[in-house]
Amino acid sequence: MRCAIISDIHGNFDALERVIVDAMSFGSLDAIWCLGDIVGYGPNPNECVREIRDCELGGIPVHAVAGNHDRAATGKLSIAEFNPDAATAARWTINAITAETRAYLDGLPERLDGATIPTLGDFTLVHGTPHDPIWDYMDSHAVAFASLAEIDTPHCLVGHTHRAEYYSLHDPGHSGPLQPSDHRHEYDHGHEPASLLITLAAFTHGISIAVDPGVRLVANPGSVGQPRDGLSTASYLLLETTDGGQNSLRSRRVQYNIDDVQRKMREAGLPPRLIARLRHGR
Ligand code: ZN
Repeated sequence: MRCAIISDIHGNFDALERVIVDAMSFGSLDAIWCLGDIVGYGPNPNECVREIRDCELGGIPVHAVAGNHDRAATGKLSIAEFNPDAATAARWTINAITAETRAYLDGLPERLDGATIPTLGDFTLVHGTPHDPIWDYMDSHAVAFASLAEIDTPHCLVGHTHRAEYYSLHDPGHSGPLQPSDHRHEYDHGHEPASLLITLAAFTHGISIAVDPGVRLVANPGSVGQPRDGLSTASYLLLETTDGGQNSLRSRRVQYNIDDVQRKMREAGLPPRLIARLRHGR
């Protein structure tokens, strides 16, 4: 099976389209998992939702969860906590989306996992963190550890930070596959077992990491539509699984026409800082 894991598209249709083409260039694409923020910031929220629905209609199963910008667009989340540029873009998006787009975004769940949907396998999907799927950031080793203690699957997929990176948890004192229940007891008592090793690494373009049963992962595919890890290219992950159980996550960065998107954003009157940052990847 080959699955594209995408997140934080943010109304950037040009980037999304290039990512889907790239994912299909490896042969069959059997699933798309989307970690939220399909809309917000960018000029084409309706086109992005339509592209995802078209993939689904074309026979590629899609599993998507909601992000904070998706919730803001449907009025389910107040934009009072947004920074001024994000709030301006959210108000623009609220006015730009069609009833069809709003209904789709409204129907997105906060969390999906393989414990309830078998095709998601060993993964839990959220936008932020399992603790607060809409708002919290996966931004420290402590949050990653707490998240792994909270979920019912070995691995967790998140978005929201717009950084392509992953935490991996090893337990040198434990042999064989790690189960979700293995470290819950320690976490409930407020401490990490001394033997545990949790590390953070960036995904670099083209790198492939094994999904090893003895290592638990919190992986972030980065952002399709507004990367913030210093690269302007659209970021996503390909999950490749084989019948023999050789599973891997491959990082991909894809070029798209940034000038076109910036022009559309200017025409839409979106904030200059949001337009400029696409070029810098910050
Ligand atoms: Zn986002």
